[in-house]
Amino acid sequence: MPDLDQNEGVLLGANVSVAKTGLLAAVEETIAYDANTFMIYTRSNRGGKARPIEDFNRDAGLARMDEHGIVDPVVHLSYLVNLASPKADIWTYGVSVLKEEIERVSYLGFRYIVMHPGSHVGEGVDYAIGRIVEGLNTVLTGDEPLWVCLETMAGDGSKVGNSLEEIAEIIARVDHPDKLGVCIDTCHNYSFGYDIVNDFDGFLQKFDDVLGLDRLKCAHINDSKNPFGSRKDRHANIGEGTIGLDALRRIVHHPQLRGIPQILETPAGQYRDEINQLLGRTPSA
Ligand SMILES: [Zn+2]
Repeated sequence: MPDLDQNEGVLLGANVSVAKTGLLAAVEETIAYDANTFMIYTRSNRGGKARPIEDFNRDAGLARMDEHGIVDPVVHLSYLVNLASPKADIWTYGVSVLKEEIERVSYLGFRYIVMHPGSHVGEGVDYAIGRIVEGLNTVLTGDEPLWVCLETMAGDGSKVGNSLEEIAEIIARVDHPDKLGVCIDTCHNYSFGYDIVNDFDGFLQKFDDVLGLDRLKCAHINDSKNPFGSRKDRHANIGEGTIGLDALRRIVHHPQLRGIPQILETPAGQYRDEINQLLGRTPSA
């Protein structure tokens, strides 16, 4: 059983709901998990108009975070955003949602927005990267009080940003690279073919070589339903997939990930148990 010191500086939480009371609901759910960070979507992934951010009970939520030592939450951008799309209406929609989300997250005072780079839907990776860069350059002014973090993907479908090199190329070509960060995802990285189970250090070394470790701003901690290199994106519950509890525990406790928000996006609503397992905590009766 790991002692308490082992969890010093580890920020671990889950993808929580903003239903009804907004930020307050997200924080109360996080407190129920005995977690110290979290992730939210501020708008529905089914589209439609976003709920006004002024209705999110920001001040009450921030006060509860303070009381419980909850820090550095992450906001995930809507899945409907695809800045790589060749279709003008989809690209324009993505640009407007990203712009709006930056304002919403700035209002909340949070530092990280995570987004999927996009899908090229047949046009190829080079086309997609150019399109994403164009989108980011349309939105970012350099004055944003936060980082837009590109998430590493699993290589499924026509997604881009699967390899660290693809992410690096996007960052290299934007006008305000200082506003960009990276969010890794254990399920995606393993499915794509980075052996984070046997050589997480090697993966981080590669990350440092290609991107620089100061770009690493957050991590999604998920097990995977599919084997290494399968290029499929199906999250499994912690300890029930091909990555396994031991490897995920090592990753969560890696010195390089201290202070970085690590977020579970696992399927079965067992976040409290999973966080306890990862941190080696005995669940209180
Ligand atoms: Zn994601």
